Amino acid sequence: MNLQTGPHWHAYAYTSPPGVTPDDEEWSLDPDDWLKRPAAEIVATLLEPEEAATWMQQQLAAYPPWSEGAHGYVHATLYTRQYLHRQQDQTPWAHYVDRHDRVVVRVLAACPRPRPPSRPAELYAWETPVPPCPLAKPEP
Ligand SMILES: [Zn+2]
Repeated sequence: MNLQTGPHWHAYAYTSPPGVTPDDEEWSLDPDDWLKRPAAEIVATLLEPEEAATWMQQQLAAYPPWSEGAHGYVHATLYTRQYLHRQQDQTPWAHYVDRHDRVVVRVLAACPRPRPPSRPAELYAWETPVPPCPLAKPEP
């Protein structure tokens, strides 16, 4: 697979020990935070939107929620496919407590991340550049 040419998604997963509230540094819903971490933390790289949607579905099924109505679980079930297919500047995520009282965080970070259509190509002064692909070979 060629990661340089096409958009793809890096899947990140954090699951806390039972009953433990994670520190803020351990998890995030911001894809940039994850892309800056070591490439070893990538649990899967998906090349097609449907592959990425299937990964999220499998995660949600493997970690059933404490409550089916949990916001961060419902969000993932409702919006993952929409974000992957039609709103690629949005990041699919899940964040909820599972039946074993573990905090489950799942993020599909688009790479390279598309700019929202409403935004100019140039960065605003307060914005930082999108992190490079963690799997890209460093420049010689
Ligand atoms: Zn990448």
